[in-house]
Amino acid sequence: MWLDGIMRQACRAWMKGRFGMSGCVFCRIAARAAPARLLYEDEQCVAFEDIHPRAPVHLLVIPRKHIPGLGADVGGEEMLLGHLLAVAARMAREKGIEQSGFRCVINTNPAAGQTVYHLHLHVMGGRVMRWPPG
Ligand code: AMP
Ligand code: ZN
Repeated sequence: MWLDGIMRQACRAWMKGRFGMSGCVFCRIAARAAPARLLYEDEQCVAFEDIHPRAPVHLLVIPRKHIPGLGADVGGEEMLLGHLLAVAARMAREKGIEQSGFRCVINTNPAAGQTVYHLHLHVMGGRVMRWPPG
């Protein structure tokens, strides 16, 4: 009945306001509510060291905004996506891997190995990268 619907809607709104994306570790890092080795931040994004580095240089660039991944939801986010890439290049330069070579990776969904469902760009370098990646 209609009261049920209204109650459910109110409950959902309250939950969202109360908890936001607090379950998302990368949202919490961006909000400085969870620890990370921050390398860079601006109004749109944050860069920090990956907790389990797979290369001598391995950092992540994330938008502050919670976007689950490089799926359909990124329509209209062209400026933000371009900015993330520009910050990735800046990080590679600052880490001294721009000339030797570096790789930017966005794993999307399970078969690609995505484990954290907040869009993130891996920036990796400091060793020779194989191709194709496994
Ligand atoms: P993916 O598998 O592409 O979703 O990548 C997730 C990455 O996030 C992995 O490389 C993890 O090591 C990294 N990661 C997960 N939790 C944290 C954290 N709290 N701080 C830094 N990196 C993290
Ligand atoms: Zn998030």
